Amino acid sequence: MNEQTARKKLADVCGLLYDRNLTVSAGGNMSLRLNEKEFIITPSGRNKGLLKPDEMVLMNINGKVLSDGKPSIENKFHIALFKANPDTASVIHCHPLYCTALAVRGEKIKSTLTPEGVILLGNVPMIGYFTPGSKKLTDAVAEHASCKAMLMERHGAITQGRTLEEAFNRMEELEFQAKLQMLAGDAEELPLSEIKKLSKM
Ligand SMILES: [Zn+2]
Repeated sequence: MNEQTARKKLADVCGLLYDRNLTVSAGGNMSLRLNEKEFIITPSGRNKGLLKPDEMVLMNINGKVLSDGKPSIENKFHIALFKANPDTASVIHCHPLYCTALAVRGEKIKSTLTPEGVILLGNVPMIGYFTPGSKKLTDAVAEHASCKAMLMERHGAITQGRTLEEAFNRMEELEFQAKLQMLAGDAEELPLSEIKKLSKM
């Protein structure tokens, strides 16, 4: 993807995440791959509702910064997911309220209450708590690199997608499922036979 187009698209999705209350203030970080080796990522410490295309930081998957600006300290787990999954074009990490409420309670997202949860998210693991920016956090994310979405204990959520839109849709669906799970109380999950059928779709 052309770098200028990618910068505009990423800024648009950051605005959408912010407007949909999927991230607040400077929380979270989002990236979009340009090619096999390079990607752009949100800068450190900026409000996601105010980001402009030219503020995104260009990096390569060896961790080298190739443009102006200071990348998010979480660039390491974005790189880990890009390396593990050649077809991943985008990684989104944010702190949506209901996902984070489950994450601080150490409660897993079921994603098996509705068909969309199963189809869009599949199994959503909960990774343990590790200091933001640490190697331990990166290693824990890398361990679950095959998952479409994951919760991070006492922290937030991560999704990845083959397009920026797919990663965004998964984050939006993840927060919907977290909210649903809290509102629906002890509602039963879909029957196992149905979950198996939906998983193949
Ligand atoms: Zn975070």
